Amino acid sequence: MPELRKDPVVNRWVIIATERGARPSDFSTPPVPLKRGFCPFCEGNEDKTPPEIMAFREPGTAPNTRGWRVRVVSNKYPALQIEGNLDKRPQGLYDMMNGIGAHEVMIETPEHCTSLTQLKTKNVEEVMWTYRERLIDLRRDHRFAYGMIFKNVGSVAGASLEHTHSQLIVTPIVPSLLEREMNGARQFYNYRDRCLFCDIAAQEIADGRRVVVEEENFVAFTPFASRFPFETWLMPKTHQSHFENVQRLGIDELADVLKRTLTKLERALENPPYNYVIHTGPFTSSDLEAYHWHIEIIPRLTKVAGFEWGTGFYINPVTPEAAAEFLRQSSDEQIAAPTAAAAAAPVSH
Ligand SMILES: [Zn+2]
Ligand SMILES: [Zn+2]
Ligand SMILES: [Zn+2]
Repeated sequence: MPELRKDPVVNRWVIIATERGARPSDFSTPPVPLKRGFCPFCEGNEDKTPPEIMAFREPGTAPNTRGWRVRVVSNKYPALQIEGNLDKRPQGLYDMMNGIGAHEVMIETPEHCTSLTQLKTKNVEEVMWTYRERLIDLRRDHRFAYGMIFKNVGSVAGASLEHTHSQLIVTPIVPSLLEREMNGARQFYNYRDRCLFCDIAAQEIADGRRVVVEEENFVAFTPFASRFPFETWLMPKTHQSHFENVQRLGIDELADVLKRTLTKLERALENPPYNYVIHTGPFTSSDLEAYHWHIEIIPRLTKVAGFEWGTGFYINPVTPEAAAEFLRQSSDEQIAAPTAAAAAAPVSH
């Protein structure tokens, strides 16, 4: 059973999950190249993953067989376990609880594609629908407080398989970084009576120097105080605190803006390793006036070293303005089409 333990100095929770240490590659220093050859995420290998939680499938096909377009399964090496009670308890001055939560993998295509950008926009749209459906399903479980959707691309960024996929980790507490963002946005709201993120989006669009892609409802830009070179945020232009409500703004447009932004990063930086994370409102609240969901895309070009670890202070060698300019000039045309592209079937919503 994984454990959650809290650092009493900065109230930071840590997941102690020894099961995941079963992968020895996690501890070797130079990043090991991703495993090639057999791929458990490819169509036809459905019995090599834990059973399917949900999927977008062709009509008449059975779970855990061929015929899917997006497939969600439990992570084989979960950081948190779905069954059990939290059993919150002290240990002297320390706090801990059982590592209860969910850890799912969203396999974005049955084809062996290595990037989300190789999918048709229609299929990226279904990946976004999948994110939404899993958040809606898991927030019904009252043991859980937060759902974090993220993506690791490349071994440097933490991926162990190259077949394009995303992950969802649901935690029984709101992560401290989110608490920090929500507190900052709340302070701004209390003072100005406006959402900080709405104001950031409006100012970035008006200024334009850091904008990478802009459409009617979404904007991608390099943040003013970017921590990392080519760090890029994508957010709705109008107010929305929870990703689950994204359909009101248009999942088709989100899929298009995300795919184009990632394609630009791939072209400009020659397929860099990267992570993206979706910061969204917690399960414990419905619509929030002072929080605003966004996707943070972090290319893993620099190493976080002693100074950053010691201070939380980042040194970024590229100005966000130069990064945005370079990305604007990069083409957003798809790099390579998937071999036998899955037919873009109409979204079943
Ligand atoms: Zn594969
Ligand atoms: Zn807002
Ligand atoms: Zn954020």
